[in-house]
Amino acid sequence: MAEALYQIIGRHRAEPLPERKPSWLKVRAPGGANYLRLKGLMRELNLHTVCEEAHCPNVGECWEHGTATFMILGDVCTRNCAYCAVSHGRPPTYDIEEPNRVAAAIAQMNLRHAVITSVDRDDLPDFGAFIFAETIRQIHALVPGCSVEVLVPDFQGNEESIRAVLAAEPEIYNHNTETVPRLYKRARPGGRYERVLNIFRLSKQVAPHIPTKTGIILGLGEAIEEVIEVMKDLRAVDVDILTLGQYLRPSNDHLPLDRYYTPDEFRHLREVGMSMGFRHVESGPLVRSSYHAWEQVQAAGVAT
Ligand code: SF4
Repeated sequence: MAEALYQIIGRHRAEPLPERKPSWLKVRAPGGANYLRLKGLMRELNLHTVCEEAHCPNVGECWEHGTATFMILGDVCTRNCAYCAVSHGRPPTYDIEEPNRVAAAIAQMNLRHAVITSVDRDDLPDFGAFIFAETIRQIHALVPGCSVEVLVPDFQGNEESIRAVLAAEPEIYNHNTETVPRLYKRARPGGRYERVLNIFRLSKQVAPHIPTKTGIILGLGEAIEEVIEVMKDLRAVDVDILTLGQYLRPSNDHLPLDRYYTPDEFRHLREVGMSMGFRHVESGPLVRSSYHAWEQVQAAGVAT
């Protein structure tokens, strides 16, 4: 299966980038009634979403469907990944009331599956783990039946922080791999590839009943063989759900885009991933960790 994939993707590798975005990346502009309602709710409750902060292309679609990914612990990140649009610098202190407000927003939105992520908080002694755990507890208490997926930072690999979040019993423990090890230094200077694998190892050891999930963005200059190797590494540490999506350069100050993958290539990658034993692979040009997250967990048999 991987051999056939190398042939398909190899055909495109030397082609120059088209001047315009390919048609499969066109999305509808945000602005519908539900979108405006959610925007109002976020401002009213003083909450941040990664949908807005990371300039996600799917915001029109997701918000129109009443789903959003909350970004806790502020909107300033202590790291400076070269592909990411979230602002970086020295964040102010965290807000102890934020978990309450996130839970209140989820109750108002009537969500059955909530995705919670955050900026990196390397400035905090626990890297923000307590606020994550508290957010999970508040959502479970206020919105019974709503599953909680946390997309956590690496907490610098700190075991106590990882254990604290798992102890709050999220329904999914998600941490993004983002790219292949060769590109870590350039794309994700604060991260370590081995650390990502260790996080999943620990998670399965501490809480084997909590499904794990990760994501890779494509188009940063990786070779397809490297992507396959990463997928094998992730299966070796028993990651359950994988997302694969296209990198879109947020601005000229960010890492240049190396290439666009076609929908066909994403389909093939999905097949390769499923044949490796992932419970679910969401693979497509516009896929982000939280894109159709509810459908992903259902497909993986995590929720009903
Ligand atoms: S894909 Fe995720 S980050 Fe993007 S708009 Fe949808 S919920 Fe928000």
